Amino acid sequence: MKQTRNTAQKKLIMELMRDNHTHPTADELYETARAHDAHISRGTVYRNLNQLDEASDLRKLPMPMGPDHFDCRLDNHYHFLCRSCLKVFDTELEYEDALNSVPQGLDGFITEWHRLILVGLCAECAKGMKN
Ligand SMILES: [Zn+2]
Ligand SMILES: [Zn+2]
Repeated sequence: MKQTRNTAQKKLIMELMRDNHTHPTADELYETARAHDAHISRGTVYRNLNQLDEASDLRKLPMPMGPDHFDCRLDNHYHFLCRSCLKVFDTELEYEDALNSVPQGLDGFITEWHRLILVGLCAECAKGMKN
């Protein structure tokens, strides 16, 4: 019944992602998954996250520093990366559809998508830096 077990593990990972709005890394999600299924392996979590990303059920977020994060939100939005704690946050910046057109100075080019990551310090880390 290997297939059933794989399906159950994928379902668990998807459910944990839906409950989790903190953009976890694969390692963080593995720690959470282990609390629900003591037999789940790190490799299974990594493999399933990559498969879910390829199937567009969630999004992998490669970051300019630190490990990849994963996001269950599929609508276009921009992120903020804290360079100190490496946590990823959703911003409420409006998505710039205008950037997905013909880029200025590049006649004949077509932009298909873009992403924007703001890098800095989250409120908590910024507070810590002052003391
Ligand atoms: Zn921080
Ligand atoms: Zn997000």
